[in-house]
Amino acid sequence: MKIENIEIDIIDIDLTRPYTIAYKTTSSIKTLVVKIILSDGTIGIGASNVSKYVVGLDTTDSYNNSKEYIDHLKGKDIDSFWMIINDIENEFIGDPGSKAGFNLAVYDAFCKSLGISIGKFLGRKIKSLPTSITVGIKNTEETISEINEYLGMGFNHIKIKLGNDVDEDIRRINIINEKFGSKIKIRIDANQGWSLDDTIRFYDETKHIELIEQPLSVKDLGNYLKFPSKIKDLIALDESLVNFKDAIKLSSENFGKIFNIKLMKCGGITTGQQIANQAYQNNIDLMWGCNDESIISISAALNTALSFENTKYLDLDGSFDLERDIVSGGFNLKNGVLQPLDSPGLGVKLL
Ligand SMILES: [Mg+2]
Repeated sequence: MKIENIEIDIIDIDLTRPYTIAYKTTSSIKTLVVKIILSDGTIGIGASNVSKYVVGLDTTDSYNNSKEYIDHLKGKDIDSFWMIINDIENEFIGDPGSKAGFNLAVYDAFCKSLGISIGKFLGRKIKSLPTSITVGIKNTEETISEINEYLGMGFNHIKIKLGNDVDEDIRRINIINEKFGSKIKIRIDANQGWSLDDTIRFYDETKHIELIEQPLSVKDLGNYLKFPSKIKDLIALDESLVNFKDAIKLSSENFGKIFNIKLMKCGGITTGQQIANQAYQNNIDLMWGCNDESIISISAALNTALSFENTKYLDLDGSFDLERDIVSGGFNLKNGVLQPLDSPGLGVKLL
């Protein structure tokens, strides 16, 4: 089936719940949308929203690069799936936003043309998993009230953003632990805000922490090697793990036992799979994270995540706080557990 046309767009979406992390506050996002239209009218859809701080360019840059690529794909046969995917991989090595947008749209179009879900195409290893939901940097009272709200919605894996001041971070987490006990599982994201000593102190002076994301700066990578192994077991590498090259480096020695893969860092399903396989072969567990993203790319991440048996943690809450989306569907969310819909392609419906 021929690729008849390609449409790309960039849309602004407000967040219903603006939030603060160690290096920024976010209240709205831009999303790149790629639509691949096949000759029988089938539409494959992809989306991306990258973080310039993490990948070096923003979604508007990706939009501009994507525009120039449209003519290159038009007229190609979607049955030459791997040729097209490889072409996209090689065209957008330094631009994960464009790569993800096109990668997802091609997967969606191809699977729809076969009448199968992406979950089936990738091969499902895990039926469903709970996702964490994130509380930004807030005072203790606001944090407690937001956790209560999430508990009421059925979530019990809570990711708490820290990293401004380790003394205050320890104090807050101990109050939260005392208040909620075993009712919640706590994941920490320090977003590069701590030193080696801060992290060790945090570990020693708190309890019941499921994992700690990227405590040290990307510039401080060598210090990850100095953590004792009981701390390394809890370290999830996020900003230090952008692409496949990083995965090779970070699996060559024990920098941390968890990789946080985001399709918005590595540029889509294909590179995500490469990183996941590299992790699997080195006994590294997987966490799948996200930016603030459309249901389109969250569904892609969820399906990819559930196709790897070393996937242990989902952190795919990125579509919950969008004021609007351009699709519905993709997955079911029940009591904090995400399960993909098994309709063709990504299982999303354009609104
Ligand atoms: Mg993170």
